[in-house]
Amino acid sequence: MSAWSARPRAVHAAAAASSSSASSARTLRERKEAVLREKKEWDAIIVGSGMGGLTTAAKMVAKGAEVLVLEKYVVPGGSAAYYEREGCTFDVGSSMMFGFGEEGTTNLLTRALDSVGKSMETIPDPAQIHYHLPASQAHEDGLKVVVHRNYREFVEELAAKFPHEREGIEAFYGDCWTVFNALNSLDLKSLEEPLYLLGEFFRNPVGCLQLAWFLPQNAGDIARKHIKDEELLSFIDMECYCWSTVKAQMTPMINAGMVFCDRHYGGINYPKGGVGRIPLVMAEGIEENGGRVVCAANVSKILTERTGEDGRPRAVGVTLADGEEIRAKAVISNATRWDTFKRLVREEDVPRSEVEFFERYKKSPSFVTAHIVVDSSVIQDSCYCHNIVLEDWDKIEDCCGTLFVSIPTILDPSLAPDGQHIVHAFTPDYIDGWSGLGADEYKRKKEEVVAEMIRRLEKAFLPGLADAVIFKEVGTPRTHMKFLNRNDGTYGPIPSKRPLGLLGMPFNRTDVDSLYCVGDSTFPGQGVNAVAFSGFACAHRALADLGLEPRNEVLDKGMQSLFGFFRSLV
Ligand SMILES: Cc1cc2nc3c(=O)[nH]c(=O)nc-3n(C[C@H](O)[C@H](O)[C@H](O)COP(=O)(O)OP(=O)(O)OC[C@H]3O[C@@H](n4cnc5c(N)ncnc54)[C@H](O)[C@@H]3O)c2cc1C
Repeated sequence: MSAWSARPRAVHAAAAASSSSASSARTLRERKEAVLREKKEWDAIIVGSGMGGLTTAAKMVAKGAEVLVLEKYVVPGGSAAYYEREGCTFDVGSSMMFGFGEEGTTNLLTRALDSVGKSMETIPDPAQIHYHLPASQAHEDGLKVVVHRNYREFVEELAAKFPHEREGIEAFYGDCWTVFNALNSLDLKSLEEPLYLLGEFFRNPVGCLQLAWFLPQNAGDIARKHIKDEELLSFIDMECYCWSTVKAQMTPMINAGMVFCDRHYGGINYPKGGVGRIPLVMAEGIEENGGRVVCAANVSKILTERTGEDGRPRAVGVTLADGEEIRAKAVISNATRWDTFKRLVREEDVPRSEVEFFERYKKSPSFVTAHIVVDSSVIQDSCYCHNIVLEDWDKIEDCCGTLFVSIPTILDPSLAPDGQHIVHAFTPDYIDGWSGLGADEYKRKKEEVVAEMIRRLEKAFLPGLADAVIFKEVGTPRTHMKFLNRNDGTYGPIPSKRPLGLLGMPFNRTDVDSLYCVGDSTFPGQGVNAVAFSGFACAHRALADLGLEPRNEVLDKGMQSLFGFFRSLV
């Protein structure tokens, strides 16, 4: 049995005082000590076991690299992890899973698992989202749209609500398909690796040119080219906001193409047993292929040295919070960029390019989340798993404006005891409003926020919810910061001003030699399948630099300068 199938059940910090969690902590400590004794130097150390870090590890061990993943929390997965309470398994964050399709190249979770000899049973979701949006003259009871798994069904439903915009709807989503089909025909790897890029260009010149055309464009510009109706444009804003946390004008077209089409192509599929099973199964595969995933290992510094003739800093390993130093040829940070370059890397080693990143991008808000266990009678048979509620278009981006709701037990009843459902509701909020509160005030504010969520849900589509509540637990931006180890609990970077599509988003290499970043602070951004993409790319780039994939140094240098030039334009 591997370390991962034998894992102690997840412990949540609130249970840390119990004796069972004390023995779990001891088991984790002993395992960490045993693994650290295994090698003097690793090919790569990955700081963090979010889906970005784990995908990188999976792709690297599959090519024979010796990889150590160090995770601060007690289970792997970060925002895609789980916790257990009251007989229920809760997804801590994500539950709408892209990337589990069977065909094409954008099914990155299927492919990452496959690279370490693993697969997972998933449950197909008949729809991505059921939107419950503001009322208007045309839609007096509110704009209700289901994004069906079947693309034609979705387009017909939307066109029935906006018959005068049928052509615009077809044209906008048609452009998204152009982007998606191009992406889905490429072998998705590192855009920083010129030999690979040249190979893909000669194999599929049309697809590559199409992507190059859309790379600097935003979804809002394309939508406005085809659509005039302001309510429909607001709908497209929501379509973008619900995963990018910015409206269409700020959302890169490449990301929109991926999300708006893969939901119909590969579909949304829920992993049996909960989202937290994905990192567990992936970690098991990594270990079976010779890698190591160690939890309760808090990296406090990325070690750098300046030994080369050029005097540039080079990452050579990490220091753990208990003072232990571990050496590696490459260090890959899955922490956010703010955590990496404002905490883990020494201030004097922070490159100019990272200072510029902090000018181009800011932290998106965090979330207030409520895990509510309810009597199943309150969830009607017509309910979909994923829902979005908004009552006023002007509040789409406000704190506590858009309300996201997932009811994963609709797809997998095994997550809760018989006769119960899990309602996971969350809404954006900043840490500022939660800092400096005394214990009573903090508790009271949490109660107020969850009561307001329940009131909105009752009105939107869950009448009788308040009386059906069996158990509830509220997380705040403080909770996200503490347990997900994300600066201010942020969901990820969002552009400070209108971006040139994806051109400003950094790839995986950094200007500190041998230091890479992976996850939602890198191209193409937030979302589990998106960070898996960054994991594929990061693994490819790091493997090439380690000599485990082909590379050409001269072309590499030229490519780096070209990207630097583009970013200076942005
Ligand atoms: C409430 C919520 C709902 C979401 N819903 C969805 C959804 O439905 N679908 C979807 O696709 N996406 C969703 N997302 C987004 C998605 O979960 C994230 O974009 C993605 O999981 C981020 O992965 P990552 O690898 O970049 O980082 P993370 O998941 O943040 O993982 C980083 C890991 O690094 C560890 N770490 C950080 N610093 C250190 C250190 N110094 N030492 C050791 N370890 C460290 C952290 O503990 C963490 O485990 C949601 C996110 C949230 C918060």
